[in-house]
Formats: sequence, C-alpha cells, structure tokens
Amino acid sequence: DITAPVALGIAVAAEPDAAIIPVTSGLRDALFQTDGQLTKREVRAVTLSSLAPTGGELLWDIGAGSGSIGIEWLLAARSNRAIGIEVRADRLANARANAEALGVPQFDLRLGQAPEALAGLPTPDAVFVGGGAGRPGVLDAVWEALPDGGRLVVNSVTLESEALLIAWHARHGGELLRLGVERAAPVGGLTAWRAAIPVVQWSVRK
Ligand code: SAH
Repeated sequence: DITAPVALGIAVAAEPDAAIIPVTSGLRDALFQTDGQLTKREVRAVTLSSLAPTGGELLWDIGAGSGSIGIEWLLAARSNRAIGIEVRADRLANARANAEALGVPQFDLRLGQAPEALAGLPTPDAVFVGGGAGRPGVLDAVWEALPDGGRLVVNSVTLESEALLIAWHARHGGELLRLGVERAAPVGGLTAWRAAIPVVQWSVRK
C-alpha cells in the first residue's frame, strides 16, 4: 500500500520509501486502496488504450469505484482533466485516497448517481462507464452529452448490460471486445489457471 509520496517513473532520493510509479497504463492492482471494485490491471490497460488519451482532454469516469481509470487518465497527460461520479461514499473515499497517493489530487470526484449526477457537467472529450451502464437513461445521457468525435468506452460484466451493449453497438457501430484473463494460482499444492469474470467492452467514436 502507498503511504509515502510517489514519483512518476523516478525514485525520489529524499523519500527512500516512495513508491516508483511506472509511466505506462495498467498499474499493479496493489497500488490502489479498494474494496474489490477495481478494474483489474490487464483490463485497465486495454481500457486506457481504448480511451486513447492525448492531452488537454476531459474524461467522465462514471461509476468511479476506486478511481483507477480516472487516475490513469490523469497520469497519461498532465494537461488532462477528469470528473469521477460514484454513488457510494465509501468507494468515493477510496478513489480520493488513491488520487492523492498516486499524485493526481486534481481528480474531481463527486458523490452521485448517473444519469442524474451528469446534468450540468462540462462537455467531455471521452466518457468511461465502469458501472451503471444498465441503469435506465445512463447510456442515453452519455451519448447526448458527447460531442461529435467524442469517445465512449463501456465495460460490463453482467449479461443484462452486455445485452444493452450489443444493442447499442448494432445501432452506433464501434468495437465490441470480450476480455478474459486467467492467472496461475495454487490448487492443492499444484498450480492451475484461475479465470477472472470476463469483461465485455464496447468502444465507439460518436
Ligand atoms: N473502474 C472502477 C471500478 C468500477 S466498479 C475502478 O477501476 O476503480 C463499478 C462502480 O460503479 C461501483 O463502485 C458502483 O458503486 C458504481 N455505480 C454503479 N451504478 C452507478 C451509477 N448509476 N452512478 C454512479 N456510480 C455507479
């Protein structure tokens, strides 16, 4: 866990206990304070690749959870901005702590539920939906808010929201991915592949 100040890609001589944060997306899961609601490293790396941050852009991170997507968006370019919306105060507290610890305290984290909490936010360049995609009105509100050329990436782990993503993909195009990750884990003294829940990702440019 991170309690010391952190540096991006370099060790800070004055802070021998400082963590060294790599410059690529897909930071180790252990760097985040979380209750388990965290987009895991491999899926997060692909998600940031799909969001394709350039610089000077605003991201909405809807269902911010532990904040990892907005945090890596901000780490990708110092000029980026991010607004995170999270419905649970305990998770929002994790996201705030992570943003501070990982050196991006400017992450604008707000308690609220989409779609209501999206009203009046500044126009985004990209939107990530990591939670709440299945709630009525969320995808409609996001699509409405996105300018032409804006990017949308939605991750889902349930069949219900997957069905929605298939329908939106049929209507608006883009790319559907299913990401499955298996990790070697001990099983009774031997080792076997343990599969994570697959994540379906829809990404599209409006
Ligand atoms: N991408 C996050 C993990 C997201 S888990 C990370 O890497 O840390 C999904 C989150 O969405 C949960 O914390 C859940 O509380 C939140 N959520 C679900 N529906 C929501 C809604 N309608 N509005 C805001 N947050 C929502």
